[in-house]
Amino acid sequence: MIIHIGIDDTDSPNGMCTTYLGALLYRELSGVAEPLGLPRLIRLNPNIPYKTRGNGAVAMSFEADEEAVLAIKDTVLFYVNQLADFEHENTNPGVVFLEGEIPDELRDFSLRALREHVTIGEAEEAARRAGAEYFKFKLGRGIIGSLAAIAYPLRAFTYELLAYREPENWGKPRRVNLRSVFRADEWAYPFSYDNVDRHKGTVLITPHGKDPVLAGIRGIDRAKVLQVFEMVEFEEPVAFYQLYKTNQSTDDHLTAKRIGELKPYDSAVVRGRVAGEYWEVGRHVFFELEDGTGRIRVAAFEPTKKFRNYVRKLLPGDEIVAAGGVKEHEGILTLNLEKFYPVKLVPKVEYRKPKCPKCGGTMKSKGDYLKCKRCGFRMPKKLIPVEVPRELKKKIYEVPPDARKHLSRPLVLPGGEDKLLQ
Ligand code: ATP
Repeated sequence: MIIHIGIDDTDSPNGMCTTYLGALLYRELSGVAEPLGLPRLIRLNPNIPYKTRGNGAVAMSFEADEEAVLAIKDTVLFYVNQLADFEHENTNPGVVFLEGEIPDELRDFSLRALREHVTIGEAEEAARRAGAEYFKFKLGRGIIGSLAAIAYPLRAFTYELLAYREPENWGKPRRVNLRSVFRADEWAYPFSYDNVDRHKGTVLITPHGKDPVLAGIRGIDRAKVLQVFEMVEFEEPVAFYQLYKTNQSTDDHLTAKRIGELKPYDSAVVRGRVAGEYWEVGRHVFFELEDGTGRIRVAAFEPTKKFRNYVRKLLPGDEIVAAGGVKEHEGILTLNLEKFYPVKLVPKVEYRKPKCPKCGGTMKSKGDYLKCKRCGFRMPKKLIPVEVPRELKKKIYEVPPDARKHLSRPLVLPGGEDKLLQ
């Protein structure tokens, strides 16, 4: 019989990682049952507040003898009991088992968990209707992600290879030969991507927290991902590694909406007109976008770095397609920009001083008149409107890799533009 297993919410900023637990389990259970494909790392709604990092849940499926099923379930629950970080108040593990076919209704639940906010009660109800068995630890919020991960329709997918550290190194700085990562990336890009940020000269495969992950290598070609892993020189022992199939970099979270429909937790693509000049608070850049149905504040936050420069180049009246997550920021509904595409740009007009009509010299502003710097000729201040080229191109702009949502598809991959241009 087929058994599907979902696990979520076992980690905290103080340590652990659900993928680590999942990888250990996948190795262990593969000894007693036949794995049906790779384990799956499913990213769910990136805008919900409970997430530790990227709102990831893990699922895996096995063909198992009926007599083995009980032992499989016991093993899963034992691992979660042993390894989840129960100390942290925001860690509320949940485990789900489902035997047999996945009902269509559960697929819908899964997409809701990707695109909306779901309650624990709704997950329990969906599990009961699907005949799934669930186990809640503490609040058990993890059953939302576990159930959604089991049923996720992984039509578009990418891979991530996760390499893990020996426990004695957890919490210590990660040791990887940085040049080897650049070399490997040069060779495999873009089939394996997000290994480095060439612009900043930084390595992206190593996280920074206390979790057991040594490195994550992403790609659309599993052979290339494995080869990058071979090429990277790790300067500390790799305890073990696991290749995951994942919905990362698929843009699955984005849905086309009108501005008036937007609500918290949405990840949407909207088309609208820039309603006014941008403004800045701290290092965050904001502007307003409107269509016939409403108006929303759009933000390019500080971590999006140079992406903000492109946002600053937008002018009132420009028509753009904008993709991003909707959240309340300081009590105001805000679209947190991931990508944008300028559809129509208004002409940009600059007002310039004329040359001196007498000697051709440069004029200087003096209150409400102009004075020639060379011959001293004075005339009333009348500036000349000049249309200047817009500094934005007809192309999609995206945030840099380290500010990108796990689900957001990098433009370098095929289909990275689809959700915005459709
Ligand atoms: P990591 O990326 O390291 O795995 P995380 O960011 O995934 O950490 P979790 O610890 O998994 O964070 O916490 C996310 C919690 O939110 C889980 O309990 C999950 O069940 C729940 N959750 C997931 N999707 C939704 C949703 N759409 N609505 C409400 N809760 C959700």
